[in-house]
Parts: sequence; C-alpha cells; structure tokens
Amino acid sequence: MNHFFKSPIYITKPLLPDREKYFELLNNIFDSGILSNNGKYLLELEGSLRSILDVPNLRLFNNGTTALLTAIRVLNLAGEVITTPFTFPATPHTLIWNGIKPVFCDIEETSMNIDVFEIEKYITNKTSAILAVHTFGTPCHVGKIERIAHDHNLKVIYDSAHAFMTKIVYESIGNFGDISMFSFHPTKLFHTSEGGALTYNNSSLDEKVQLLRNFGIKEEGIILESGINGKMNELQAAMGLIILDLVEEERKKRESISNLYKQILSQRNGIYFQQLHELVVPSYQYFPIRIKEKEFGKSRDFIYDELKKYNVFARKYFYPLCTEYSYYDGPKDFPVAKTVSNEVLCLPFYGELTESDVENICNIILG
Ligand SMILES: *Cc1c(COP(=O)(O)O)cnc(C)c1O
Repeated sequence: MNHFFKSPIYITKPLLPDREKYFELLNNIFDSGILSNNGKYLLELEGSLRSILDVPNLRLFNNGTTALLTAIRVLNLAGEVITTPFTFPATPHTLIWNGIKPVFCDIEETSMNIDVFEIEKYITNKTSAILAVHTFGTPCHVGKIERIAHDHNLKVIYDSAHAFMTKIVYESIGNFGDISMFSFHPTKLFHTSEGGALTYNNSSLDEKVQLLRNFGIKEEGIILESGINGKMNELQAAMGLIILDLVEEERKKRESISNLYKQILSQRNGIYFQQLHELVVPSYQYFPIRIKEKEFGKSRDFIYDELKKYNVFARKYFYPLCTEYSYYDGPKDFPVAKTVSNEVLCLPFYGELTESDVENICNIILG
C-alpha cells in the first residue's frame, strides 16, 4: 500500500476566495444592508461574466437547476423534449418539473454527447425542443443540432454546466442554441458557492428571464408571469467576483495535470480519453477516462474500488444512466450510452494536485 494517501483525494476541491478579500466585500455588504435583489455585486458579476464568456446577455441565478427550469419556461416548451440519458439527474428533472416528457436519445461514443444522427428518429408532432449537454465541457455537434432545429422548428437549450469558458474555434459556447445554462456549484471550476446563469443571443428574451427569475413581478402591484424565486444573493455574487480572478491560473494547472495523466495512462492499452477537436478550447471541468475491460484486463468498477483502498475517490460520472432511475418507465435500449456509462471514470482533477499525486493515482490504476 505504498501509494496510500494520508488524507482523502476527492474528484475536485472547490476554489476558495482569499479570506481577507472576501471579508472586505462582506463588510461592504453589511454596511449597505443590501443582501439580494439586483444588488451591486450581482450586477458587477453579471457584467464580468458577460465579458469573460463573450456573450451579449447573461443573468445570474441561485443555482443551475433553477436557471434551467426558468429557461424551459422562457421558451414556452411543452410536450416532449429530446435529451441525453448520459447526464446529471438535473437535466431531465427540469423537464419533468415543467410537465414535459424527456425523450432520450443515444450518445456518440467519442464525445459522449447526444448522437446528432439519431435525434431525428425521435421527433414527433409533440416535440418542442432539443436539450443537449456539452458533456464534461466537450461541445456538442452544434452545427448539426442547429440545422435539425431549423428544419423541424424546434428550440435548442444547452446544459453547459461543465462548459465554462469552452470555445469552438473563437466562438464562446454560450452563444449557441436559444439559451445556455451554466452551473456555479462548488464542484464546478468557476463557482459562487451555489449559483448558475443563463446566456442567450436574443436580447428580447431578457425581460422574460428577469421576470420569471423574480416571481413574475414587473413592478409593485404588477405581476405578469407565474415566476419563481431564482435570484442569486450578494454573498454568492461577492464570492464569485473573487473566485473569478483565480480561474485562469486554475485552468493552467489543470491543463498540465491533464497532460500528465494522458502521458502516463496512454502507456497501456485499454484506457481512452475524450477526443477534442484541435480548434476547441476545453473547460478543464473534469478528467474522464474510459476503461475498456477487454483490452485493459480490469474493469472500471475494479479500478474504482482499487482507488478507494488507497483513499482516492474517483466518480462514476455518469452512472447509472437517467434511463435506469427507478421511476423512469420509458425505453431503455441505448447501447452506446450503456457501454460508455459502464466504462467511464472521472479522476481527481484540481489545481492543488501535485505531480506526485497524479503519478501515484496512475500507478494505482496501472497496478
Ligand atoms: C452541476 C450540473 C447541473 C446542476 O447545476 P446546479 O448548479 O448544481 O443546480 C446540471 N447539469 C449538469 C450536467 C451538471 O453537471
């Protein structure tokens, strides 16, 4: 057990703001007495994020799930929405909470994203949209999805929870589809303790986004929509402002960790990495590998258990598939998603991991 870690190694470690800097902003919040409702720090963070993500419109929310619930309402979706089973439960759950039936479509093996050549099979006269996920920050085939949506008059929402700062060629990921959702949960690279955002090119959506985020209240006594409370508070926004300054350095560190993992793990057959197009700037959200048991000699589950013995807690994202949840009673036959879900493992991935940590983790995996 010479590779045993004294303290547990988890899949991620949230960036924490410098205490003094955060306390200074908290002092200002105390002095102002304004804790929520379009406060100073919320507006400042919205401005900074619009510029960093290079998007014309962005509104902050108290978490990514509320943001996605709201996006579905903003676009008036109904009936059926085509989505992927290889995602976090929040993706289909936001459809169900809006009274919409999630219709699952298989994924494509190398990107692990929805298979654009399967989508049209599932379009019926009840389909209102495609809800696709940029899985682990790898962009979907946005061009093909746009064409399908155009041909069938469908809306497109992207769950971009993993895709903070991803770019396709020079275009920000937040500029595709009708609306994109970002999550700022502490497990995400950029976070606000809890939080989320919607981005959209069409500025005429902005009024409805703001109304639905705040109970539908237009002004005192005038309520125009059956809105929700999706507001981010000032303590979250202040944390985001300080953490935003740490993101570039964290991304650089993760880039070298990713290179080191690949260099060591590619020495053996049977371990596969996500393939990124050379013109894609990745988000460095997760480091997923796929372990093909026949070639590697050991299964994903074996490696997962083995790592645990050494105090390393990798995560089986995304296992089980959304189609395996106990309450789901629709079709379950998605062979690619099923295979990928049984092979995938997200390894510990955060800037504080040292080279020797990464080498140890690889040694445990390679046995
Ligand atoms: C994190 C995540 C969400 C949910 O975001 P929250 O901010 O935690 O509500 C949704 N979809 C995916 C793919 C996620 O990883």
